[in-house]
Amino acid sequence: LDEVAKVEPRIADATRAELTDQRGSLKLIASENYASLPVLATMGTWLSDKYAEGTVGHRFYAGCQNVDTVEDVAAEHARELFGSEYAYAQPHSGIDANLTAFWAILAHRIEQPELADLGLKNVNQMTEEQWETLRRKFGEQRLIGMSLDAGGHLTHGFRPNISGKMFHQRSYGTDPETGLLDYDAVAALAREFKPLVLVAGYSAYPRRINFAKMREIADEVGATLMVDMAHFAGLVAGKVFTGDEDPVPHADVVTTTTHKSLRGPRGGLVMATEEYAPSVDRGCPLVLGGPLSHMMAAKAVALAEARTETFRTYAQNVADNAKALAEGFLKRGARLVTGGTDNHIVLLDVSGFGLTGRQAESALLDSGVVTNRNSIPNDPNGAWYTSGIRLGTPALTSRGFGADDFDRIAELMVEVLQNTEPVTASTGKPGKAKYTIADGVADRVQSATDEL
Ligand code: PLP
Repeated sequence: LDEVAKVEPRIADATRAELTDQRGSLKLIASENYASLPVLATMGTWLSDKYAEGTVGHRFYAGCQNVDTVEDVAAEHARELFGSEYAYAQPHSGIDANLTAFWAILAHRIEQPELADLGLKNVNQMTEEQWETLRRKFGEQRLIGMSLDAGGHLTHGFRPNISGKMFHQRSYGTDPETGLLDYDAVAALAREFKPLVLVAGYSAYPRRINFAKMREIADEVGATLMVDMAHFAGLVAGKVFTGDEDPVPHADVVTTTTHKSLRGPRGGLVMATEEYAPSVDRGCPLVLGGPLSHMMAAKAVALAEARTETFRTYAQNVADNAKALAEGFLKRGARLVTGGTDNHIVLLDVSGFGLTGRQAESALLDSGVVTNRNSIPNDPNGAWYTSGIRLGTPALTSRGFGADDFDRIAELMVEVLQNTEPVTASTGKPGKAKYTIADGVADRVQSATDEL
């Protein structure tokens, strides 16, 4: 950073400050983690300086032999770790991975049969009229995924995202009584809507999914099953999720980020069966340009780490710690969506404390606890203020926190929330953003968290 400071001191200072902030607070954001030193070091190299559009052995640039090795090793680790037939390491992020997967599915299911009917090899050979017909067919396709307020991700067909604009879309929610995924309701929606793509996966659902059931639903309606395991990839890698809870043997296409519970660099991966592999392999030029070679290298290092016994222990601890955190809240009278957890996420309903998610998030931050507000099913406060706080255990488990620590975190968080009041708005009703914390509580909790 001394070298950086000579060029732009503000960047060196912000980077140093970020280290202090990340180490000096309790990071409970479910999508964040702490990558290892080998992963961090691999990200900052001259591999970044090389262009390598194309795929391994088929590049549009000369001199890609080292990037070929990097991409090959990353894909090999992904295949062997997850037991997938094919892996693609180029997507720069989770959104890129999903976009690559969507277009690969459209290429495989819509474009390839159209080309075969016309006796053509690629779309460049189509007449203007044939091309317009194909484009119309792309626009007619349907997708179903989990709704945002039930815990789905915006790339699963949410209208403001490209996924909701490129597909006709419907979403499935969770059972209003239990908060759990209702497979019969998913099947009924699939029968009625007949999607080309059934997306399973989540960002804020605190439970495991039975992917064998999702496969049955997809098969019944002829849909491609795509699983976005961005959040729980670390639990799949660490063999906490096995059998019906492991998406890889059941899905046609599996996408993930590499930086959440998997504890790698920021980035994405797509895995697929042999059948879908040739289409995914054309991620460039389908939706990607030049791959980030340094990031693929860092993914390879992280995936190698995830193949160790140490990582398996870590993954089990992540799940055990989430249970301890959930128990810690329940025994102190707090309400959790679905009544608990069996993955790495705890979704706390803060309405019982008389607060919005926004107020709770801010009051906790003042006390050194970093979380994010999140909608809960049928949230009366909408997606901005929300009624929930999403918590995750991957990051603090990486710092060595155990079950007792997580119980203590629940105790401290409840202390903050019980001592926080909404500030009354000019309408005379409780406001949704402003709040006050009883004197001394934030400081007391901050020093208690420093001791953990
Ligand atoms: N998919 C899921 C399930 C996610 O939770 C996220 C990120 O939060 C993404 C995709 C997008 O990942 P990225 O932020 O790397 O684009």
